[in-house]
Parts: sequence; C-alpha cells; structure tokens
Amino acid sequence: MRVRVLFSGDDLSREMLVSLFESSFRDLELSLEFSDPPEHLHGRNDAADILSVLLKKTGAYPSIWVVDGEVYLPGTGPIFGCAAGRCAIATTCGLPGTAWMNVAMHEIGHILGLDHCTWRCLMQPAMSREEIERRPFALCARCVGTARENVQRGFSLEGDVRPVP
Ligand SMILES: [Zn+2]
Ligand SMILES: [Zn+2]
Repeated sequence: MRVRVLFSGDDLSREMLVSLFESSFRDLELSLEFSDPPEHLHGRNDAADILSVLLKKTGAYPSIWVVDGEVYLPGTGPIFGCAAGRCAIATTCGLPGTAWMNVAMHEIGHILGLDHCTWRCLMQPAMSREEIERRPFALCARCVGTARENVQRGFSLEGDVRPVP
C-alpha cells in the first residue's frame, strides 16, 4: 500500500520525509510515492476547499498535499495541517525548519484511520508551534496496533470526511 505525497520540494526534503515515514510507520508495509502538486494554491486557504481539490485529483487514493501557504479551518482558525478521510494537507508555512514534517506524519496517521491520542505519541493533538516541536515522531504501542489493523483492512474510511487538524 502506498501513500501519495504531492510535494514540490527538493530531493533532500523528500529523503527526509521517506526516512521519517519509515521510522514512524515501520513494519506496516507502507511506502511513500511522490508526485507534483495538482496546482498552486492561488490564494486558496480554506482547508475544506483545498481538500476538495485534492480529492478531485486523487480520488480515494490515500494522499497528502504539502502546501506552502497559510491554511484555515472554518471555526478553528489557522492550522498547520488537517485530514479528512483518505486525504490530508500539511503546510510548510509558519513553522521553523522541518517542523512541518511532524505535522505531515501526524496527518498521514489520520489518513491511516488513527484518531487523536492522549499518550506520548505522534497522534497527540497539537495546535501551536511549541506543541508541534515537542510532539514525538513515534506512535505509541496502541496506535501502532490500530494502524496495523487498519492497513490490513485496507483502511477504508468512507464514513468520516470531516476535516480534523
Ligand atoms: Zn498513540
Ligand atoms: Zn490531528
């Protein structure tokens, strides 16, 4: 099973994402596949709107779009990433260095059907820069177990398409 990353960044960033992905989601028989972003945001910043563009381009294929502009979730405000069903976005905007990669891995966790987690875990919710910088890349044992079950089932998530940060 592959997770598609729509990303316009350089090779070094791609290599870092692959290595983080392989350590966060190890032993799950998953790999990342890169492709070019569907389009520039052109002033889009509503997360639900961006996710609907992504969904149209990729269908039900599990995908995350790495964007470089500010993203808002109506009712929540600015966010660093969010996921709905099999699609997610993460933005490189507003976070220092490669901290956005932690958000990208967290959103991939949502794509794999993981909910927020109260343990010390990649799936802890984080709304601020500081919380993201403190959040580990590793999943807790419970989330690893859930992700494994979901991947084995083909992580069909048609029921839930509300965007979650
Ligand atoms: Zn967890
Ligand atoms: Zn989340």
